[in-house]
Amino acid sequence: MPSTERSTIHRYAELTWPEVAERAADDPVCVIPVATLEDHGHHLPIDTDAVIAETLAERAVLARPGRALLLPTVTHGYTPHHMDFPGSITIEWKRFVDYLVDIGSSLIHHGFRRILFVNGHGSNVPLVDMAARLLMLERRDVIAATFWYLSTPESAELLARTRDSETPGGMAHACELETSLYLAIHPERVQMDRAVKEIPDWDSDTVWMDWNDGPLSVKGQWSGWTESGVIGDPTVATAEKGRIWLERAVEEIADHIDELHRRAPRTGRDHHEGAGAALHTREGTT
Ligand SMILES: [Zn+2]
Repeated sequence: MPSTERSTIHRYAELTWPEVAERAADDPVCVIPVATLEDHGHHLPIDTDAVIAETLAERAVLARPGRALLLPTVTHGYTPHHMDFPGSITIEWKRFVDYLVDIGSSLIHHGFRRILFVNGHGSNVPLVDMAARLLMLERRDVIAATFWYLSTPESAELLARTRDSETPGGMAHACELETSLYLAIHPERVQMDRAVKEIPDWDSDTVWMDWNDGPLSVKGQWSGWTESGVIGDPTVATAEKGRIWLERAVEEIADHIDELHRRAPRTGRDHHEGAGAALHTREGTT
């Protein structure tokens, strides 16, 4: 039996292999932060998405002791549209999906059945979602999920009520939101004196970016939208707003952990089985 001290370890990578086997038997939620390295204006480090995703995931795991384990962050993601900006590192989209599926499949191999991807980078969204779907198709008794943080109705309402930047556009990238979150986590790494507001002229009622984008998705090269890399207004960011939004995002993720922890898999059944057996019997009698 592990010591009490060892049994409270929340980071997967700090366990020994017998401890991993013991934890798998408890059927916890494996929480995997996913991010990318890319430009976040002149004022935020390129690791912004990784720092935010990891902080949110770790605090949510700590808020649910015994129910969840924190996996190491998948630092690199899909960001070819940011390669005009020095620092961005991109993984080819299919390789990225395969890599996430490989991580999930490894966990499943060791007996884990519940996986929550905490993604901090917008352009990863469809690919992380695809990886989660593929894991559930691979194994019917697995539950894998992802989401875009601060997007539940309560969170959207909180953002609308507490933001100072204009909408749409003030909260898209290296913006009021991401800058406030980083200020709440590592203020010493944020160069607020270099923050600039940059919101494109959308020239459209349907094409725009904000924390949740407009109804029509048009992306292309990031440098076609912004000179500084910013889309939004980081000049109005504060650590205080960051703390409020961080707390809300952690609650949201802790709730997702509860949901995944209690959920029973909907395994379905293959309706070909009966048809195949009937065909076989028919063939056998002729
Ligand atoms: Zn970001």
